[in-house]
Amino acid sequence: MVEATVRTRSSFRRWGKAALLARLVLLIALLLAPSAALAGKRVALSFDDVPRQRGAFFTPEERSQRLIAGLRQARVRQAVFFVNPGRLAQPDGAGGEARIMAYVAAGHLIANHTFSHQSLNQISAEQFLADVDRGEAWLKGRAGYRAWLRFPYLHEGGPDKVKRDAVRAGLAARGLRNGYVTADGVDWHLEQLTIDAAKAGKTMDMKALRRLYLQMQLSALEYHDRMAVSALGRSPAHVLLLHETDLAALYIADLVTELKRNGWIVITADQAYRDPLAKAFPDVPWAGGTLTGALAWEKNLDPPLFPLWIGETVATPLFQRRVLKETNSQ
Ligand SMILES: [Zn+2]
Repeated sequence: MVEATVRTRSSFRRWGKAALLARLVLLIALLLAPSAALAGKRVALSFDDVPRQRGAFFTPEERSQRLIAGLRQARVRQAVFFVNPGRLAQPDGAGGEARIMAYVAAGHLIANHTFSHQSLNQISAEQFLADVDRGEAWLKGRAGYRAWLRFPYLHEGGPDKVKRDAVRAGLAARGLRNGYVTADGVDWHLEQLTIDAAKAGKTMDMKALRRLYLQMQLSALEYHDRMAVSALGRSPAHVLLLHETDLAALYIADLVTELKRNGWIVITADQAYRDPLAKAFPDVPWAGGTLTGALAWEKNLDPPLFPLWIGETVATPLFQRRVLKETNSQ
């Protein structure tokens, strides 16, 4: 302490008051900087199934407006919305084109989630690529478009390596890149629980619902980041899988606040997909799921311990107990 004081005094004489003040300001800024700047945990937000069927609380129009406002409030410069143009013909898809272009007008991106959201595990490579092409026909050339393909259900061929490789080659030939995800907090499942509860006329504790939504997304991100660090030796630019849900419309700004509080920096989708991860094509016995899970599996360092069913299985009793206050569950 004494030594530091002496050094500070001699510094004061040498550099003068202004320079010392500048140094102190820099030191304080470094001390106050969010730990994320040091830890380097980064994540971009992605929303699937656009235009999605309506949720428990809003019309699709209200949902989009709230989602845009929430992203703006949270200062998220650029998220990406993965579109299924085939959903526009469904009842809740009415007016969907205008809503999609409203996302673009707000600075966000749009990309392909196939035309009709079929699982590659259920259809042939040719049928799948034809569905990709129908999606491209609607999307390509629009403002905000990126040549990224998000696999429906994150199914990339499952155990069929011939089909997996045929689709990988087909996408490359079309100039399309995999719009992969690195973290999945099964938000769609929680959304479905709220829809079921609303249909059954049940009362929901909205504070508990908010807490559960944030907890599921944060824990999924932290889990996948630990897995990525063990597989890659670094924390990559993450892409979080979300859906165009009422839950996102309600809580997206809160989610960003919670991310920042936990040391995360929200980056743009363009930044995230510039990560070297984008060039990874893991070779594992079952193609699909999060890219981080597949890479961990490939390196045999840490098996993907967060398959979707765990998130669903854990979330359901938590929702019943905390949000619906049903004491007989669990
Ligand atoms: Zn989907």
